[in-house]
Amino acid sequence: MAKKTFPCGHKGLGQYCHKCQQSSVEQHHQDTNKREKQVWEQQFKADAVDLRKLPHKSLVIKARSILAAIKEGQAYQVFNGKRMNYDRHIVSVPIDNDYRILFKDEKEGLTPVVVLSHEEYNTKKPGASKI
Ligand SMILES: [Zn+2]
Repeated sequence: MAKKTFPCGHKGLGQYCHKCQQSSVEQHHQDTNKREKQVWEQQFKADAVDLRKLPHKSLVIKARSILAAIKEGQAYQVFNGKRMNYDRHIVSVPIDNDYRILFKDEKEGLTPVVVLSHEEYNTKKPGASKI
């Protein structure tokens, strides 16, 4: 088979230019990744608390499911949440071993306040002062 010159100027075999096909596929992947990243970034703005500090996508997703469930009235105990000894109006719900969400217990129900890492949680004693 003889190589031929495609309209794009590349030379090759076959019905279409594989070089251009390949680069357009790559471009498409890059665009898709970029879009997905933008969508992912956008979603953080809709969260009741800032979840950007969570290191893994899976943690963010888990945190969101906890936030959604508690907003719908699910009991925090289901997620192993517990009230703080120093302030019974603060409820701490673990996301995993390292991160937790703090909620304020108000008349309307639990309001998410902040996401804390294990270290922050132990050093800051959030809620001991004012939030
Ligand atoms: Zn080409």
